[in-house]
Amino acid sequence: MVSVDGQAVVLDQTLFYPRGGGVACDTGTLDTSKVRETTKADDKILHALESPVTLRVGDKVTGNVDWERRHRLMRMHTAGHLLSSIFYSKANCRITGNQIDVDRSRMDFNLESFDRTQIEGYVVEANELIRKDAPVKTYFLGREEALKLPDMVKLAEAAPPEEAQLRIVEIEGVDRQADGGLHVSHLKEIGQIQLLKLENKGKTNRRLYYDLV
Ligand SMILES: [Zn+2]
Repeated sequence: MVSVDGQAVVLDQTLFYPRGGGVACDTGTLDTSKVRETTKADDKILHALESPVTLRVGDKVTGNVDWERRHRLMRMHTAGHLLSSIFYSKANCRITGNQIDVDRSRMDFNLESFDRTQIEGYVVEANELIRKDAPVKTYFLGREEALKLPDMVKLAEAAPPEEAQLRIVEIEGVDRQADGGLHVSHLKEIGQIQLLKLENKGKTNRRLYYDLV
């Protein structure tokens, strides 16, 4: 353990993935202490514990990530990329926000019409692609090279990070995005996407909630 910041512990290395980019964080344990939340601040990963910190600087700890939760977040995240890719290619939808979580996830996007049948059709298409399956790959590309690729950054508001190398997440034959998150290695791992709810947020703003089955 490197330092204690209130209820939060900082380690010299960790497998815990912090909350960020609209994706929920890992939880788990450090020795016997439950990790309630993992966040990032100034390049440090903060492990917020449920109980008061009794560890001291220099102590060795064993971390355990809740893998069931982690895997579900990975499946939800890749599903989000797949949906946004279809919405973009079919209707030029710009994704304006997302919240990837364990129980249900949310995607906000711009679409002129609010046509349930049309949107339901996109989810059906996503599920067909999952059934066909495709590998999901991650790799690094030079920034210049990456930004030459069409539609690399689909989030309407998000500028690409100011880094020389961009991490690319590619659903082979379907989608490529600059992204730092964790994903499954094959579409099939997602299962099936279930459309939970559609909301009309006025003007062209639409909101979609989904779950996985
Ligand atoms: Zn992502």
